[in-house]
Amino acid sequence: MRLFESILETNQRRVAGATDAVVPAAEFAGALPIAALSCIDPRLNHLLPDMLGIAEEHFIWLRNAGNIITSPLSSTMRSLSLACAVKGAKEIVVIGHTDCQVCKTSTLQLLEKFSALGVDRHKLPENLVEYFGLFSSERQNVMRGVEFVRASPLIGAKVPVHGLLIDIKTGKLDWVVNGYEAPASAAVVSGKAGEMFRKADQTLDSFARIGNAAAEELKLPEAKIGEVVSIARDVLQRVEQVAAAAQNSIGSHGTAAKIGATATRAVSPTAASVPASAAGSANASAAAAAAATSASVPPALPPTMAAPAAMSPADKLRLLAKVARDAKAARRK
Ligand SMILES: [Zn+2]
Repeated sequence: MRLFESILETNQRRVAGATDAVVPAAEFAGALPIAALSCIDPRLNHLLPDMLGIAEEHFIWLRNAGNIITSPLSSTMRSLSLACAVKGAKEIVVIGHTDCQVCKTSTLQLLEKFSALGVDRHKLPENLVEYFGLFSSERQNVMRGVEFVRASPLIGAKVPVHGLLIDIKTGKLDWVVNGYEAPASAAVVSGKAGEMFRKADQTLDSFARIGNAAAEELKLPEAKIGEVVSIARDVLQRVEQVAAAAQNSIGSHGTAAKIGATATRAVSPTAASVPASAAGSANASAAAAAAATSASVPPALPPTMAAPAAMSPADKLRLLAKVARDAKAARRK
């Protein structure tokens, strides 16, 4: 018997009244602790740890409204990956619950609630469903969360990723996704978000390769470095575009967008000539990208970078190599 099979069995005994039933932790030392993502619903505060039947020290508990994961590189994914890498979690579980208010709230109701709190509609993101990750089925939301964890480059293929649904009244657990059965090779995110993510992922791969080559080229004379920069520019502009599109599409405000923005800054020959007005109130990196590509890039990148002063090719390559290392680190962590 494996850990989550024991957890489900223990749960059944608890539901049947055996309130002292616990998972025999010593038998599963190699599979503990677990990292769990659940909703913020306070009804889960005691119910969830109790009904899992495992001790506090074996339970790394992440919570957000609706136990939602918005992308394979989201902030929640960052915490889940560090739960494994830093806190030693061996298995991951996304736990939804019945009667979830995030699931039950329509966009119209949400706007009314925000309005009552003095939050203006025009200050909220345009696409509320996408931004807040609103969903209409608790079960499907768990499946979607597991999909994102499974597809995330931040989680190793050896970590089983389960999906459970807990009945908020009885505490009974239902197995939505059995992480022992789901093959790691089938880890794909479906739909438009998945497509965007795969493109960004592939681009980061080529990006890292070019960055490594560029780092090697640092040993070359200045003239040759210029050639490498011009080859790298094409790929990196694509990274920028994919990152911006991915950010718009799947709401990733993290690594992909930042790497894309830094990449453009590194290789754009025209970034230094971006007008101060565009770099000020608006968004320097998006403006730099538009200047570099003459294409329409969604103005959604983080306003983190001022327009850089003119860089020497060697400096560009040094920055490029750093970006490549960051990209690789983000994929490997
Ligand atoms: Zn909830």
